[in-house]
Amino acid sequence: MDKLLTERIEGNLDLLGLIGIKKVYAQIGKDAQKNNSSYSHYLDLLLQEEVSLKQSYRFQILLREAGFPCNKSLESFDFSYQPGLDKKRINELFELDFALKRENVIFLGPPGVGKTHLAIALGIKTCSKGMRTYFLTMDMLMKRMRQEPNQRFPRLRRYYQSPLMIIDELGYLPLNQEESNLFFQFVSHHYEKHSLIITSNKGFRDWGEIFGDKVIASAILDRLLHHSHVVNIKGSSFRLKDKLESIAEYKQTEKPEDLSRFSYTIEDNQLQPLESKRPRGRPRKVRL
Ligand code: ADP
Ligand code: MG
Repeated sequence: MDKLLTERIEGNLDLLGLIGIKKVYAQIGKDAQKNNSSYSHYLDLLLQEEVSLKQSYRFQILLREAGFPCNKSLESFDFSYQPGLDKKRINELFELDFALKRENVIFLGPPGVGKTHLAIALGIKTCSKGMRTYFLTMDMLMKRMRQEPNQRFPRLRRYYQSPLMIIDELGYLPLNQEESNLFFQFVSHHYEKHSLIITSNKGFRDWGEIFGDKVIASAILDRLLHHSHVVNIKGSSFRLKDKLESIAEYKQTEKPEDLSRFSYTIEDNQLQPLESKRPRGRPRKVRL
């Protein structure tokens, strides 16, 4: 191709920010000539290249801004460990209709059953479709809402405009009246406008206790549950999987008299020696 022509094409592609096309137009042009492709086919291939590059850039930016604490996916979720969980229903959630319909998803269950895992995986999938998502723990949300008391503040405005917000760990810390009111405002604002994904270790019956006020808790629940998918995960903690397996393996290899200290029960979400075999002094606890 003529040097001057090449310079003008590439200069204009730079000006328009069409980096994807700039990378491939020469090669696609050669292929098109060889295969006798039509001009419209050539243009189609160029545009596809540009769109897929832009989508992948946007995905990277959305991922960075979302603030996910780690990378989780549906593929890495082991359904065989949670046989009570309806796999088909979870797969349907990952089709993301809930986000298009501005519905909410609420994951309930004890610690370690995969609530945060599924919430993050759903959030990442949403970002991959180009939708802005933010991930915050309830504690972080409360801190930000106290720092920026209304939507005119830039960070809060982003949260109020985002099509999906993930609020993790509702219920771990009780809220005071001001915080409960702030959360009510937050949920009311999102109601029927945007989607929320919420994870909580507390059943709805205990939400009055979390918010310190049954009236405000039921007003929050009323709005959250109106268009929602509630996933109640009742299984055991994945965090204990390896511990329980190694305890079981150890039991098979050790003499019976040595086993008493490896008999555990789960109480108050703590792994504890069985009551009758608990050694003297402070109980041994393994944090979940
Ligand atoms: P929760 O939020 O319910 O307390 P998490 O989602 O934080 O639990 O899960 C704790 C850890 O166990 C995470 O590393 C998560 O990826 C993993 N995990 C939980 N359930 C599963 C599962 N069914 N398959 C694979 N990993 C799991
Ligand atoms: Mg969690």
